[in-house]
Amino acid sequence: MDLGEFQQLIEKMYSHKDRQRGAAGTFVWLVEEVGELAAAIGQGADDARKREEFADVLAWLATLANVEGVDLSEAVEAKYGRGCPGCGKMVCQCDAKP
Ligand SMILES: [Zn+2]
Repeated sequence: MDLGEFQQLIEKMYSHKDRQRGAAGTFVWLVEEVGELAAAIGQGADDARKREEFADVLAWLATLANVEGVDLSEAVEAKYGRGCPGCGKMVCQCDAKP
């Protein structure tokens, strides 16, 4: 499954709830999931738990993008598809972190 397919899957599964919650409420959920990922890494959780937490963060990021009408795949392609946004190289050679 690629990023675009995943975002569409999340749209199909949850958009009826996501639209009601809105961007602000969805952002809170995203940050909560980022916190759970941080805890999993910080606690040295096993790979299965870390995979779940990464999946949750990406799902909530996709949800927020859906609520805001942003196509994640297009956004990523536009910003990173032709190399580092700082130096333009496919293997970054600058100190910039976009
Ligand atoms: Zn660079």
